[in-house]
Amino acid sequence: MRLVLLGPPGAGKGTQAQRLVERYGIVQLSTGDMLRAAVAAGTPVGKRAQAIMDRGDLVPDDIMVEIISDRIGQADAAEGFILDGFPRTVAQAEALAELLARRRLGLDAVIEIGVDEAALLARIEKRARETGRARADDTPETLHKRLEVYRQNTAPVSDHYRAKGMLTRVDGMGSMDEVSAAISGVLEAAGRRSGRA
Ligand code: AMP
Repeated sequence: MRLVLLGPPGAGKGTQAQRLVERYGIVQLSTGDMLRAAVAAGTPVGKRAQAIMDRGDLVPDDIMVEIISDRIGQADAAEGFILDGFPRTVAQAEALAELLARRRLGLDAVIEIGVDEAALLARIEKRARETGRARADDTPETLHKRLEVYRQNTAPVSDHYRAKGMLTRVDGMGSMDEVSAAISGVLEAAGRRSGRA
């Protein structure tokens, strides 16, 4: 199963992706985690990405597409994957379609976790408090910037998939279990459509 999870920062993509990993035994490909690892390791990509991430901006598409292209080609992704945090621009979505097509693969589902902004702010502030701000970009200023970047660059990714009839939106305002159940429902329907149980 190959799946894209979309939703604004704080929508719960990471949590839901981890649950899907346990349930379906496929890998979670979080571009945010990959970039944070690159920053921690001091790689050339990490060095370029750090300042961009700290201010809540997007790392350039060419870097992201190369990272994801390499990652999708690795053995553990052969059975499927959940993309968490990618694509974040329409150009990334187009590049993803191309690189999957080259491998004769497609996406089984694109799921958007929908939440309202006031709830989001409360959630992210809670995450910052609970983790003691484990992430350099979990500050109120950066959060506003990340939401603005989301509206401007990433909301059009939802429109892009919606126009192709590929997008399903689930309500992200419920409990984690409710959101998980809604996502499983979408995946089961996608499985039936593609002839799998
Ligand atoms: P995340 O953990 O998904 O919230 O990502 C943290 C930060 O990494 C983002 O605010 C961006 O600066 C950067 N980032 C992660 N994924 C992407 C992507 N697909 N395109 C551009 N920048 C990204």
